[in-house]
Formats: sequence, C-alpha cells, structure tokens
Amino acid sequence: MKKIRPLTLILLGALLFHACSEQETTQPVDQVPDAVLASLENAGYDVFNQAPIPFEDGYLVEGDIYIRSAEINNLQKGTRLPVEEQYSTNNLVSTGGNRIITIYAFTGGGGKKGGGGGGFSAGMIAGLDLAISRYNAENLGITFQRITSSSSPDITLTRLSKGDERRGILGSAGFPTASGDPYNEIKMSGILESTYGLSTEGIATIIAHEMGHCIGFRHTDFFDRSISCGGGPTNEGDGGIGANLIPGTPSGATLAAKSWMLSCTDGGDRPFNNDDQTALNYLY
Ligand SMILES: [Zn+2]
Repeated sequence: MKKIRPLTLILLGALLFHACSEQETTQPVDQVPDAVLASLENAGYDVFNQAPIPFEDGYLVEGDIYIRSAEINNLQKGTRLPVEEQYSTNNLVSTGGNRIITIYAFTGGGGKKGGGGGGFSAGMIAGLDLAISRYNAENLGITFQRITSSSSPDITLTRLSKGDERRGILGSAGFPTASGDPYNEIKMSGILESTYGLSTEGIATIIAHEMGHCIGFRHTDFFDRSISCGGGPTNEGDGGIGANLIPGTPSGATLAAKSWMLSCTDGGDRPFNNDDQTALNYLY
C-alpha cells in the first residue's frame, strides 16, 4: 500500500471528490471522445477545467457525478447560471409525507478487499451510520435507514474498483429519477480510513455528500468550484439537470461556512450548517 505523505493529503484535500493530480496525467482528456465532450459541454458542464474521466460504463463529471454513456445523448441543453445560493436538481425524491429510504452496504470480506465485491470496514460503516443520523436529526420528510439485507434497498453502497480507489476517486453518485426515486447507488472508496486516515466524522461528511446528490443536491459552490477546490473560477453550469436556488439560503458560498455539499473537501468534518439545514428543510 502506497504511503500517503502529508503533502499528498493536502493535495487530496484540494481535489477530493474527484481525481488526484496523478490521475489527471494518467487519464488525458483525449481518452474521452469529442462527441461526448461536446454533449457534456452543451449540457453546461465544464469539461475543460474539470475534465470528465472514463468511469465504469460512462464518465465522472463534476468530480463525482456518474453519467452513463447511454444517458449522455439525453442531457438537455444547459445554461451557465451566475447565481449564488444552494441548489437542487429538477428531479427530487417524492416523499408522500414521510418516506423511508433504505441503504444497504456490504460488509463482507472484513473491508480488506478493494472493489469488485469487497466490503466496507467497521470504520466506514460507522461513518455511514453517522451520516444517516445527521439527516435523521433534521426531522425531514425523508428518513434514512441502514438495512443489513441486500434485498431491494433504495440505495446500495458499493466499493469503487481497486483501480479507482488507488487513483484517488473517493465517491460517486447520481441524481433522483424523473419518477421521484433517489439515485440508487453510491460507489465509495473503502480506504478513507485505512489509507487516508480520515475520522468517522470525515467519512460521514463524504458519505452524506454523496447521499445529498442522491436526493437532489447540487454542489453549493457549483457556480464557482474554486471556492472549495482552489484554482481558477469554474462554473459547472446547470448540467441539463437543473440548478434551482433554494429559497432562504444566503447568496454566495464560502469555504468558511463548510457546507457539506461544497465540491471539494479537505477530509475534515462538515456537519450541516444553518444554511444546509434551511436547504434540507425546504426541500424535504
Ligand atoms: Zn459531489
């Protein structure tokens, strides 16, 4: 196992939720067909400052959003929106008043095997449980519940492939379906504790972030990822999925406010701040 130097962790902080810098050199943009880049760009994604990378049956865009190749051509034309508050996608989860969303995470294999059937360690599961309890403490119209049976969970937490874990991808998710269901799969790195030394709170923050995408949250700083990721200002655009401002949230995201939906994390703890709570309560 590669030893993580302090600098690597700092770099990781700047690039968490998407590729590490190493990866950008091993995954050149030209591996993504021009037609795909054009479709993503047309939908409003920034494909230059945040190059999509080949991932599973499609691409990771915006760092941690998984879009299957089959969906690329169905993306609607997006617009670049210079607005600043918290944002949701057009599709949201239908709650019917109070909906229980079950999550199943495989724990077999002692968490030692990466990807491809490997399970999550007790430390990762502790992070998942903390993430769930943070949502449930908000008394929303949705309640998350971890189940230990793999039969028909709403969301399945699976390990990224060994290769993706090694190249620094931390997690991926998608957005709710048009029929009002949460996105049904979160792929997580299983080495957040063992390799990166993240605390339970840090792990919970990353899992809660991916859960946030599954129920329709965009990145708080999607209009300018440099707020949390550093580098030059980049706007993810509406991505053909919508970026609807959530009433009651303040204008302008800041790194200091530590929203759990900032694009990049430093691996630390980001429990829901007041604005996050406003946004959660508005949507659910
Ligand atoms: Zn994200």
